[in-house]
Amino acid sequence: MRIYNTATRQVEEFSTYLPKLARGYVCGVTPYDHIHVGHGRVYVVFDIFRRYLELLGYQVKLVINFTDVDDKIIARAREEFGQEAQKRWREVPERYITEFFQLSTQLYLKPAHSYPRVTDHVEEMTTWISTLVERGYAYAAPDGSIYFQVGKVPNYGLLSRQKIEELMAGARVEPEPGKKNPLDFALWKSWTPGEPWWNSPWCPGRPGWHLECVVMSTKYLGAPFDFHGGGADLIFPHHENEVAIAKAYLGLDNFARYWMHVGYLTVRGEKMSKSLGNVITLREALAKYGGETLRMTYALSHYRKPMEFSQEALEQAGEMVKTIYTAYDELSQAVVDAGERDLEEVGVEKYVEAFHNAMEDDLSTQEAAQQLYNAAKYIISTVLHKIEKISRERALVILKQYVEMADVLGVLERREIPKQLKEAIETMVEVRSKLRQERQYQLADFIREKLKTIGVELHDFGPKTYYTTRRQVI
Ligand SMILES: [Zn+2]
Repeated sequence: MRIYNTATRQVEEFSTYLPKLARGYVCGVTPYDHIHVGHGRVYVVFDIFRRYLELLGYQVKLVINFTDVDDKIIARAREEFGQEAQKRWREVPERYITEFFQLSTQLYLKPAHSYPRVTDHVEEMTTWISTLVERGYAYAAPDGSIYFQVGKVPNYGLLSRQKIEELMAGARVEPEPGKKNPLDFALWKSWTPGEPWWNSPWCPGRPGWHLECVVMSTKYLGAPFDFHGGGADLIFPHHENEVAIAKAYLGLDNFARYWMHVGYLTVRGEKMSKSLGNVITLREALAKYGGETLRMTYALSHYRKPMEFSQEALEQAGEMVKTIYTAYDELSQAVVDAGERDLEEVGVEKYVEAFHNAMEDDLSTQEAAQQLYNAAKYIISTVLHKIEKISRERALVILKQYVEMADVLGVLERREIPKQLKEAIETMVEVRSKLRQERQYQLADFIREKLKTIGVELHDFGPKTYYTTRRQVI
């Protein structure tokens, strides 16, 4: 598989550092408001990437963070709670993190391996900062804030292909008192009255944004890990600064082997942004069109390109999803009418091959989605009409190959699981939870492995377990 790497500005062969294990980190949201359809695009792109890697036989370990303390969260809490903001500010991130999980389910995103939060990692971050100060990469300002000195690391600006001098000339950052260079950024922000704070060796305060993603990604994935992604607007300064911190702390030129960035959305040709007031929330879009149509809409444009988010595009994608369901429903019912022998050459191999070629060519989902749709039309126009002239085995192979493509894009997610199977799965999950409570982990793992062999995957979140199924066709 070939993937465009922002770090080299080239399409490269994708490989993993450890055999058959793909480890990736996607920058998560700052939960201070409803997320919008641009965020949805980023997570769907990485979900499709993950599903495809899984189809290729990789185990995928994906980590998505929450920036659950930040200027915007504090401002929002002040707006909502006034004087009580310092006491109640956590209600803001809690509310939007809950919403994030609800929308993720509606968008059929497979759960990440973990969702670390900044506020759970402050201690680790202060350890990193201490080391960076000791090694001379960071310095304390008179107010106790700690800044990272970008001039100390070689090749600062390489990821975003910018020269320090040009960045300096273009830097419109407000000069913060105590900064040696306007491009230096805060690793630790000193406390301002009314704001949340944590203790540190320097002064009460809170960690800076860029540091969190380096600390949490390498904690959960090790270093170097395979891919690091997010929206294209994060390349500078966020990802550039992450690279600089990792260079200083870990001594690695690049702690992520591939950098992948997703293009922005436009509405009537204008970039979607809060300041232009043309933001469409993910919640609205999901309520109106549903997860599969939205996924199909995203898939129909290449992830690196800007994407026009229009009603026409959504309606077109919705029609395609309908056809994809029709082919599935009718073929799964027609299987019983199939014959004993193959009297005609019927198959979807041609579409499957084109689908893989597209996916392997820098995740060209727009082409892959088209091939899936073509396969659906072929099933309706040809396979169903010749069903009696092919063997049942052949019909099932077609169905299986077809479903495999649809499952990468996540557009046949409402296939019904038979009721009894569902009940059986839920019972097993319940039994396993009991076993875990009683610390019988070996038996619990045994159940997890067994369920996996029938296409049911369990995902634990603390005491709670969710399951996802890939319904087996045969
Ligand atoms: Zn990040």
